[in-house]
Amino acid sequence: MKTIYAFAAIAAFTTAPLAAQTLGNAPVTEADLRGHIAWLADDAREGRFPGTPGETATAHYIARHLSAAGFVGGAADGSWYQPVPLVEYYNSHGRMSVRDAEGRAVALPELAVRSPVGRGIASGAQMVFVGHGVDAAGQVVADVRGKVAVMLSAPRPGENPMSGADRRAALARAGAAAIVILPPANFPFEAFSRQFLGRTMQLAARAGTAPAEVLVSADGGAALLRAGGVDPERASEMAAAEGFTAAPLALTADVEAETYVRRYTSYNVVGRLPGRVAESGAVMLMGHWDHTGLCRPEGAEDRICNGAVDNASGIAVILEAAERLGAGDRPDRDIIVIATTAEEQGLLGAYHWADHPTVPLDRIVVNLNIDTVAIAPRGTPVAMVGRGTVPGLEAGVDSVARSLGRAVDSDEEGNAFIRRQDGWALTAKGVASIMAGGSFSDMALLNAFLSGPYHAPDDELTDAVPLGGAADDADLHVALARHFGSRAIYPRP
Ligand SMILES: [Zn+2]
Repeated sequence: MKTIYAFAAIAAFTTAPLAAQTLGNAPVTEADLRGHIAWLADDAREGRFPGTPGETATAHYIARHLSAAGFVGGAADGSWYQPVPLVEYYNSHGRMSVRDAEGRAVALPELAVRSPVGRGIASGAQMVFVGHGVDAAGQVVADVRGKVAVMLSAPRPGENPMSGADRRAALARAGAAAIVILPPANFPFEAFSRQFLGRTMQLAARAGTAPAEVLVSADGGAALLRAGGVDPERASEMAAAEGFTAAPLALTADVEAETYVRRYTSYNVVGRLPGRVAESGAVMLMGHWDHTGLCRPEGAEDRICNGAVDNASGIAVILEAAERLGAGDRPDRDIIVIATTAEEQGLLGAYHWADHPTVPLDRIVVNLNIDTVAIAPRGTPVAMVGRGTVPGLEAGVDSVARSLGRAVDSDEEGNAFIRRQDGWALTAKGVASIMAGGSFSDMALLNAFLSGPYHAPDDELTDAVPLGGAADDADLHVALARHFGSRAIYPRP
């Protein structure tokens, strides 16, 4: 009674600020998050694929909630929507023929040839086995200009290996005329080649230069190496050997591929909560709004990949955190929310933002990316993706976590995901960017999701989806934004 009386008495004079303070400090509940996730992952959104009506509805939903929280549009023109010009490529038709040194055709049992960017042609090009394509430092292993690089799909052994896409991009930048991808033994060629020849997407600004790519079967890859003079049994061993550069193959190839091209504009939603102190920097909350859309063939019983956990949950956390940050004591620094598009297509919206930042990159104190948060129950320790990458940052994260009564999981298991999340686009530009929360602490729970409903129609909002950890992580992000948003608590390093 006493508390209520005091509240009423003060409220008579300062209704708005007190109500705002109360909301600013109110813990995020599972029900708060459930409301957003239910809307974002509803079948009506059709899996939030970029360029669909699901995007339009989702982008408006996010902007509306940020606006109600006190944010303003944060795009360059002051609007909520940053245009992200995209290019999509469909239905590759292609072929590759290979000849040995005597001009005899090399028979390859199965081939899938695609051009990720419209049209790719190589004619009479020398073939060269490049192992994993890059060395430990991420540098292309040999001069591949004008050549057909024959690359193992398996990543290079060691820490934080580069993805196949990143290694192909490196070979493309080095001027490879085409790239042949050698799969591991027992590779399910049929299933993968369908996916390989399906839709691919790229930022329009980065499109137009990639070479054709050829996927062969395991047997086809072995036949190719053998014909070129490399023992397929020893190829992996060769590639892993100290000082390996490349092995020229006594083969030439003609490659031709062409795809149907669709160009359109998708959008990052950008909001800004102006800080109390101008020019004191910015804290970013980032999360991708998109998912994989209609992900099963027509006629399938359920063809909508709803992306409830991936990443309606992250957007829900951001919207609830934004509401509290807008209502409570205003941080010194700006709070920037960026809800990115086309993360599922290769972090495209995040890369676009990093190329066209709406605040100068050197003003960003920290970027907190929030992705796939509905994994763990309440009370899960706080782990980090990016621990060890930003000096001085984890002390702040750890102290904030402990102040909320959460344990800290300080192993670096989460770092295995560092290139698989939007924050990487900023890390790659030297911006402090991490993910913090419970999802990367209990790897058994995370792996159960990744090998289960992940990127499948089953990533839906059901009672089985744990929202307790997500609610904890929402509170964590409110506290982190206030911590890093305070000049006194976190002077710029
Ligand atoms: Zn995903």
